[in-house]
Amino acid sequence: MRFLVTAGPTREPIDPVRYISNRSSGKMGYAIAEAALEAGHEVILISGPVNLGPPRRAKFVSVSTSDQMFDAVHRYADNSDVCVLCAAVADYMPAKVSPVKIKKRAGHLSLELVRTRDILDSLGRRQHRQFLLVGFAAETNDLEQNAVKKLHAKKCDIMVANDARLGMESDENELLILFRDGEIKEISCASKKFLARELVKIFQNSQQKRLTKKM
Ligand code: C5P
Repeated sequence: MRFLVTAGPTREPIDPVRYISNRSSGKMGYAIAEAALEAGHEVILISGPVNLGPPRRAKFVSVSTSDQMFDAVHRYADNSDVCVLCAAVADYMPAKVSPVKIKKRAGHLSLELVRTRDILDSLGRRQHRQFLLVGFAAETNDLEQNAVKKLHAKKCDIMVANDARLGMESDENELLILFRDGEIKEISCASKKFLARELVKIFQNSQQKRLTKKM
């Protein structure tokens, strides 16, 4: 199968030297890309800036902003069987990017932020999509309820939920895997490598089931 995986944070520029971002390390997405390759799949990895080397056999697309990630995902999604949107895309970006470095002055400085485009949501809204759509939800509270809401709101097939405090930057994670039909699987604390292998098996089986249902 052909896997598309997004990973890492995005950077939303404020001026030529500053940006808004988050603490995503990209480790989970890179581990999924690696595990999919190991299982014999083709992989396109679309990544924000991280300190990891891309898997050698993956097609690698390096992006920085959420707009660049949006465009790259839409370029490749229709040629994919499984789209795993693991990236921690910024929810907001500065309304205006200053073309020159903003100088400090006395008093407060306010920054106006506007919403970025939601990549997962935009894929979920596609009519007649052929690919399996997987989202990730990192939450600090009410993990299951929030993840179920997102699964339905963003019209994905699978939502993988984890505690944001446990998963970010770490080598380990604990996952709840929620399916559209209400099924829930739990994998307790394990390395991201192990989790990635389990996830790839689940994604592969789910896509196979979707395709046989459609026939
Ligand atoms: O709503 P929330 O940001 O928590 O949803 C997380 C999921 O949505 C992740 O799969 C993430 O990659 C995706 N997302 C996206 N584009 C955004 C924000 C989130 O694809 N602008």
